[in-house]
Amino acid sequence: MTRRLLRLTRAPRRRVALAALLGAATVVCGIGLMATAGYLISRAAEHPAVLSLTAAIVGVRFFGLARPIARYFERLASHDVAFRSLQRIRVQVYRRIEPLAPTQLRCYRRGDLLSRFVGDVDALQDVQLRGVLPLLAALGAAGAAIAAAAILLPEAGAVLAAGLLLGGAAVPAVADLLDRRAAGREAETRGRLSSELVELLAGAAELAVYGHEAERVERIRTADRELARVERRAALADGAADGLLLAVTGVTVTGVLAVSVAAHAAGRLDRTAIAALALLALASFEGVQPLAQSVRRLSATAAAGRRVLELVDHEPAVTDPLEPAAPPAGRVAIELDRVRARYAPEDEPALDGLSLRLEPGARMALVGPSGAGKSTVANLLLRFLDPEDGRVLIAGRDAREYRQEDVRRLIALAGQDSHLFSTSIRDNLRLAKPDADDEALERALRRARIWDWVAALPDGLDTLVGEQGRELSGGQRQRLVVARALLANTPVLVLDEPTAHLDPETATALVDDVLDAAGDASVLLITHRGEGIDRMDEVVSMGRT
Ligand code: ADP
Repeated sequence: MTRRLLRLTRAPRRRVALAALLGAATVVCGIGLMATAGYLISRAAEHPAVLSLTAAIVGVRFFGLARPIARYFERLASHDVAFRSLQRIRVQVYRRIEPLAPTQLRCYRRGDLLSRFVGDVDALQDVQLRGVLPLLAALGAAGAAIAAAAILLPEAGAVLAAGLLLGGAAVPAVADLLDRRAAGREAETRGRLSSELVELLAGAAELAVYGHEAERVERIRTADRELARVERRAALADGAADGLLLAVTGVTVTGVLAVSVAAHAAGRLDRTAIAALALLALASFEGVQPLAQSVRRLSATAAAGRRVLELVDHEPAVTDPLEPAAPPAGRVAIELDRVRARYAPEDEPALDGLSLRLEPGARMALVGPSGAGKSTVANLLLRFLDPEDGRVLIAGRDAREYRQEDVRRLIALAGQDSHLFSTSIRDNLRLAKPDADDEALERALRRARIWDWVAALPDGLDTLVGEQGRELSGGQRQRLVVARALLANTPVLVLDEPTAHLDPETATALVDDVLDAAGDASVLLITHRGEGIDRMDEVVSMGRT
């Protein structure tokens, strides 16, 4: 899984290298600053000629100035990497789940699952920002520090290497162990607390009327206590890691001092190098310091990654043929031939053995109780779903021989739950035909009998419809949806319960208007009521399967 996550979150290699290099450079500057300062202080104590100190003074100045500059550019570069990686993740995940959306993502319509999924996708930027980059930077800086120490005194290099290994690998492992149970649960507990809060606020009136508010408040308290417990545990792991790292740093610096003093006693090391070595060792731990927190963050990220990969791995129910047939031109007949369809292998069939034929230009109503499989017919025609048995024929060919895109150019759908985006009327309509000019929009709106209303609005076509069209009445919303389907100008129009949320009078008027507007397109009207049935060429009645 780690490898797949790395592949999913990949960022341009050069940029990763640059960010890691700048990260390592920041630490190396810190090390250089401390080491040259240590040397300068010890050397100055010997009262040498000031000129002999110039190199060290320049070194201190250089490292002191270079460090914040390197840090600044490292921040820029690492966030650039994180955003590029996030962009790639989003595009890839979107591409993979788009074909699943019409029929296979039903559970994600629930708000909390959807927002957790969005959070999961965003969390994956941590793979680069908290995982790959700090690790590479730590390796680079540790390598440079060990090499510099080893040049001055090989055994000091060895002690430092051992200390950095302990601080960079063992300490994060211990922190991870301490935090195992808390990581991942923090997000979940926080989510529970906020959903309890939202429920309380949304249902405050009912809770007060029926006297349940105390009980609800107690539930919030429990969730809050749980969150505090999880956070305390995380803080404990943080503190323990910091403390441990400090201890390891102390022991390592003492070790480096001990071997340096011994080497000086043996005449192998100048005394001015002792302080430089000790301070070098002290500063080199800055590189490994973020690793403990990284490891903990990454276990939460891994959980998010697992959930994202699970969804990404879903095979789409419908795929395009390798050699698609050319889309038919002009008016087309559509036919269902003894079709059986189901949404998941373990589900009951939503349709079993249904046959029907809609001639070019004909009007057919599909009636039946809720759950009879009427919308499934619409899903099959639009290739959101393929039949398990039997065939869907468009212009005499199996629909599976066409590309999904081509099928959707032939058949437009105006459904009861068709989505209106939180943007202008114009943009919502243009979804069906991006290059449509205002005249074409007006024609479609006229045909859906809603132009007079739109024209009278102060902002006209630029009027914002609100989230899911909330600023509009049910009838206006439905008419816009119909206008959008008409604008697509397809030979077949499928109307899936276009009147579901309307009162009978508005419903009858709408269906009448749509049938007038459909022109010579064939119409399949799905309904469980009965508006417009008398104007149909054929009525197919579906029972519950
Ligand atoms: P109708 O439109 O006549 O009310 P549907 O075609 O919506 O009936 O539903 C037929 C059956 O298929 C129902 O049992 C329903 O639960 C199921 N179903 C519909 N859509 C989905 C879906 N996206 N995923 C799983 N099951 C579905």
